[in-house]
Amino acid sequence: MTVQLKPGDSAEFQALSGGKDATPVTVAFGDGIGPEIMKASLNILIAAGAKISIEPIEIGEKAYLAGNTAGIEPSAWDSLRRTKVFYKAPITTPQGGGFKSLNVTVRKSLGLFANVRPCTAYAPFVATKHPGMDVVVVRENEEDLYAGIEHRQTDDVYQCLKLISRPGCEKIARYAFEYAKAQDRKKVTCFTKDNIMKLTDGLFHKVFDEVAAEYPEIENEHWIVDIGAAKLADTPEAFDVVVMPNLYGDVLSDVAAQIAGSVGLAPSANIGEHCAMFEAIHGSAPRRAGQDMANPSGLLLAGVMMMNHIGQSDVAEKVHNAWLKAIEDGLHTYDIFDAETSKQKLGTAAFAEAVIDRLGQKPAQLQPVTYNAEAKPFEVPRPTSRPAAKKELVGIDVFVDSTKSAEALAADMQHAESPLVELAMITNRGVKVWPGGLPETFCTNHWRCRFMAKPNKQMNKATIVELLSNLTKVGVDFIKTEQLFTFDGEIGYSLGQGQ
Ligand code: NAD
Repeated sequence: MTVQLKPGDSAEFQALSGGKDATPVTVAFGDGIGPEIMKASLNILIAAGAKISIEPIEIGEKAYLAGNTAGIEPSAWDSLRRTKVFYKAPITTPQGGGFKSLNVTVRKSLGLFANVRPCTAYAPFVATKHPGMDVVVVRENEEDLYAGIEHRQTDDVYQCLKLISRPGCEKIARYAFEYAKAQDRKKVTCFTKDNIMKLTDGLFHKVFDEVAAEYPEIENEHWIVDIGAAKLADTPEAFDVVVMPNLYGDVLSDVAAQIAGSVGLAPSANIGEHCAMFEAIHGSAPRRAGQDMANPSGLLLAGVMMMNHIGQSDVAEKVHNAWLKAIEDGLHTYDIFDAETSKQKLGTAAFAEAVIDRLGQKPAQLQPVTYNAEAKPFEVPRPTSRPAAKKELVGIDVFVDSTKSAEALAADMQHAESPLVELAMITNRGVKVWPGGLPETFCTNHWRCRFMAKPNKQMNKATIVELLSNLTKVGVDFIKTEQLFTFDGEIGYSLGQGQ
């Protein structure tokens, strides 16, 4: 039985779903093509026997325009926290300032730290240059530049804080290895840029290595993200599971999905200790909305991941194999339609019907999937506790807004020296310009002036207050400070380029 649903209307699904042992699932029909592809996906899942009871919530454009800056009605959180399972269609983020990303808000508020994106080729039925591709990108979902902490510090200079934590690295690295183990995958690759960001990406790489040592049966390797990305785009067959910090994972999972065949085919699962969210990786494609054209496959395959997550792997297997059979039979939506390999171009609803017609069938040429109903899901990793390192204050970076030369600024800064601290260096955008800078170095009005404790002197917070007070007296416009610590004697800050 299928449901003829008007976009946005979920009442009939509520009536259809349910039952004694149904798992409650929060569902958002989203914007643009969202309602059409959600309706198609739910029709297929329910036809396959999914035992779910749907709790619809309103998110996206309507919620934004109703004045909720994060795009979600406050009452929706109750449902999410109750069901702990979120099946989400894509939404439209209105243009203009003041709107916060709903995805980032949901992921961070619910602690969904792992974003899992399988990117699989379906050659020869879906055109791809990489017929053997079967890569899973595991993207860290909560940290990195997505902390959303940005400041304009001077007239010319803006900053975005990149935050990486040890527990965050540990959870995502362990998740990648546990996932590889559970899915019988052979290798986990880590991408970072730790040749440049030695502390933040350096920590991600270091923790990856530590965790990798606990899984000797799984091969591990690390690539610098730039050449790793080039290799992934050129030879994805060389990769299996790839784990990365948030920004690289955001970019490269789209690249991986597209070169596998189409972003329209790729699902994603956002997993946390308490909750999980399942969605397509693409957006709401507003230009295709309401035309019964969009490909529901990414959202449907996210539904397959959800069925596995809630322990209904029989439904997951049935739907996945029927979908593979429809793809193999050349029944394709416009985005993957190819006159040579496709047999029929179908709209969203007709494609869903084609999948439903094939429930119970398996593909003949593509590899059928088998999901083990007995397999226990692995426990979502928690960070291990460790004794805190001994933290010692050894200096301070004072950031200054100034149009003076490096030499003139150094003279001002030296007025603030005390018996405990002295000016050690000035950098501009990270490059050392004092002492001994080069005249060729381009300087902005944003300076970092590093004061260090004098040899055999111990500075403290009062030293900093005195230093800043002295700077005020000579009219220095300091805009922020960063304290410099050692941790068990190990330096906890980067050196200036050229230092
Ligand atoms: P998009 O993914 O919506 O569309 C990019 C291109 O892919 C378009 O040409 C579109 O027609 C095509 N496309 C995407 N999904 C398709 C499908 N299922 N079937 C067929 N073709 C498909 O990206 P965009 O245009 O950059 O963004 C549109 C809106 O979606 C924006 O408001 C953006 O903020 C939002 N968005 C939402 C999510 C989400 O909710 N998870 C993710 C990305 C973008």
